[in-house]
Amino acid sequence: MKKHNFYAGPAILPAPVLEQAAAAVVDFEGMGLSLLEISHRSKEFTAVMEEAIQLPKDLLGLGDDFEVMYLTGGASSQFYMAAMNLLNDVETASYVDTGAWSTKAIKEAQHFGNIEVIATSKDKNYAYIPKGYHIPGNSTFLHLTSNNTIFGTEYHELPETDVPIICDMSSDIFSRPIDVARYGMIYAGAQKNLGPAGTTLAIVRKDLLGRVERTIPTMLNYQTHIAKNSSFNTPPVYPIYVCLLTLRWLKEQGGLAVVEEKNQAKAALLYNEIDENPLFEGTAAAEDRSLMNVTFVLKDETLSDAFLAAATAANCVGIKGHRSVGGFRASIYNAMPQSSVQVLVDVMKDFAQKNG
Ligand SMILES: *Cc1c(COP(=O)(O)O)cnc(C)c1O
Repeated sequence: MKKHNFYAGPAILPAPVLEQAAAAVVDFEGMGLSLLEISHRSKEFTAVMEEAIQLPKDLLGLGDDFEVMYLTGGASSQFYMAAMNLLNDVETASYVDTGAWSTKAIKEAQHFGNIEVIATSKDKNYAYIPKGYHIPGNSTFLHLTSNNTIFGTEYHELPETDVPIICDMSSDIFSRPIDVARYGMIYAGAQKNLGPAGTTLAIVRKDLLGRVERTIPTMLNYQTHIAKNSSFNTPPVYPIYVCLLTLRWLKEQGGLAVVEEKNQAKAALLYNEIDENPLFEGTAAAEDRSLMNVTFVLKDETLSDAFLAAATAANCVGIKGHRSVGGFRASIYNAMPQSSVQVLVDVMKDFAQKNG
């Protein structure tokens, strides 16, 4: 029996995506060959890449002023590549520190240009999204982490500014529609909400490219990958194919407005239980709660092992919280069906009856 997969990442993928992905390993589209053993320059794979580049544009409503890339090295490589490609040594970029991933992005960007941390929620172990801070108008860009996978917080409103936003959307990409005009760049490691580990989706506004004066090694230059349709060198063909399958699935759902509605319903189901159940409490500020990663604790920590055992017995896996927050984290990405969330809610209700 398939388990209810609440892991934070690598994470759940839609069931039909896994089935098609498995079939492609054996025989890709009736070619008599596995997708794993064909050239990335074959017409079959070139078509995969073209569609995988087009669908993010369709789903997000991106105009021709944006370019889509599939890169390697994880979202973590974008922490430095973004600044390396987009920020001159004499320029300043503003960063908001909303958790471990933001902190890492800040550290790596510091190799290039001036990095100013204009707000942080570190004072409360990142349990909220800072608001009302000043964004210097001369910032080349503002870097945000839209969803904080570890701490369970998410931006529900962007700060007001004309500065282009560069956003790490690794854990909430394609979970809701976005106002594309606000963004200069978006990047996301595939393994949370899009596909398997091994590729990173990067979307960049063309006019921000070609501005920096430093020389950039060929493989680290966005322009290299854009010019060659993400096939300058051998791309991770299989992860990109699985991303394509997920993108098709998202489109079949009816687009991102429909996906957002489902995500809101799933999150509401779980947060309502956390709020109503006398044994549990949420760890993130209510107005900043993530629709993707739901973090909560037992008020009586001595019950933790028993609760984990009850969840495991109900086939719910991956709910142990990150070590820096403790407690529990249920990741309920796009691919998570509401029925699985209901199973976890039922475990919580039952646990309260037995231990209340
Ligand atoms: C997981 C995660 C990362 C790191 O991604 P890698 O692909 O492992 O480098 C970065 N940012 C966020 C928000 C994440 O959730």
